[in-house]
Amino acid sequence: MTNRPPVLAPLLPELPAWMDRGLCGQFDPELFHPEKGESPNPAKRICMQCEVRVTCGRYALADPGLDGVWGALSQRDRQRLRRQRRQKREAS
Ligand code: SF4
Repeated sequence: MTNRPPVLAPLLPELPAWMDRGLCGQFDPELFHPEKGESPNPAKRICMQCEVRVTCGRYALADPGLDGVWGALSQRDRQRLRRQRRQKREAS
């Protein structure tokens, strides 16, 4: 049995090796996919203890098709960061 994040397994046939070290593999995947109106903070708190948080967050930022919490960032957080980066690029 793998401890890779179960939320990712169906999406990515070949998972990056760092995912083996993700803490989320020890928790209910539903936690990382909060329903509308539910807080992403419990998942974010787990991410903040995870050794691959930065790599995970960068990975998710690069793929707008991913949902849920990655690297302590909700989908909304990632959308906001992408928008800010785009605006910064356009302004320079
Ligand atoms: S940062 Fe969060 S979502 Fe990413 S691998 Fe770690 S626990 Fe899982």
